Amino acid sequence: MHKVQILSAVIKKSCVIFILICIFLPFVCATQTKVSNIQPIKKIYLKKESDKYYFCVDFENSVHFSPRIHTLPKGAKLILSFKEKVRAPKTPKIKNHKLINGYFFEQIGESSLLMILSLKERVNFVEKRYTNNSIRLGFKLQKKRNIVIDAGHGGKDPGTRCLSGDYEKNIALIAAIELRNKLTASGKYNVILTRDRDQFVPIEKRKELAANADLLISLHTDSNSDKKMRGMSVYTLPTLDFVKNESTIPQQESDEYYKNLARSRKFANTLVSYIPTSCKFKNHPRRDVELKILKLLYPAILIVLGCVSNKIDNQLLHSRAFREKTNRAILYALDKFFEKEE
Ligand SMILES: [Zn+2]
Repeated sequence: MHKVQILSAVIKKSCVIFILICIFLPFVCATQTKVSNIQPIKKIYLKKESDKYYFCVDFENSVHFSPRIHTLPKGAKLILSFKEKVRAPKTPKIKNHKLINGYFFEQIGESSLLMILSLKERVNFVEKRYTNNSIRLGFKLQKKRNIVIDAGHGGKDPGTRCLSGDYEKNIALIAAIELRNKLTASGKYNVILTRDRDQFVPIEKRKELAANADLLISLHTDSNSDKKMRGMSVYTLPTLDFVKNESTIPQQESDEYYKNLARSRKFANTLVSYIPTSCKFKNHPRRDVELKILKLLYPAILIVLGCVSNKIDNQLLHSRAFREKTNRAILYALDKFFEKEE
């Protein structure tokens, strides 16, 4: 072969090799980088200690990380920042776990991971702890409270008569059903209605239905000869000085009475603070009344939703928007009340 031909063949070959290197080098480098990224998570598991659960993430010993932990009612969001380049671990599929819906990781940049934990139940996180090579998130299951909603009157007992001709028993029933739906939908409460239709339920039967409750809310309206009188009010029992035959009550019962009265008043005050100003209150929204339905071994309040003898209140009591506002306030007040007690 001629020398020039040999030289040209060598140049051609070199060009092909150079082009091939240019094309494949970035891939080779990328693959190498990917391989050098460490997978920092060693083990993830859930453990139980008495009434507390711990969601545990264990890391490889050599890893250094700093976490940002955001807890949610049904889970947690963790952002883990590492000193080294990391890659997300494979997430196992979780089937039929009693508490965990699942968890997954997502890469953020080269050295951070986002981790989402999703739980099946609402929980209260009580501990967020991390060391050099582990994270422990301690939580307790939220206790579902039993709430009894007592729609006032019913059947042969119609209650007060509205300007529109309707009766208190119907207003109380609609309000009670909508409140039941709202509380149940929150997932935090078991609700019992003392009646869910237009029927007469004797007081003793109502109290029997409410036997295992954590709190009772009785719903009513009132009527006044003064047609200008309007607004909501919240009632609890009076102190024993105003209760008939109070001298016959033994000390233990009296202590129990005051304990429940204090809790009832606490809830009533919380509720008054949550009712929006657009729902008018009477001058003294917190009142006392001696009613059998409120004499229970747990907090009990009676809400007068408005005066059916007043034109504006009469309209409001038949408005879904008004009921939505008051029901939302009751839900918030319940959340606040029980949150403090946990
Ligand atoms: Zn009534």
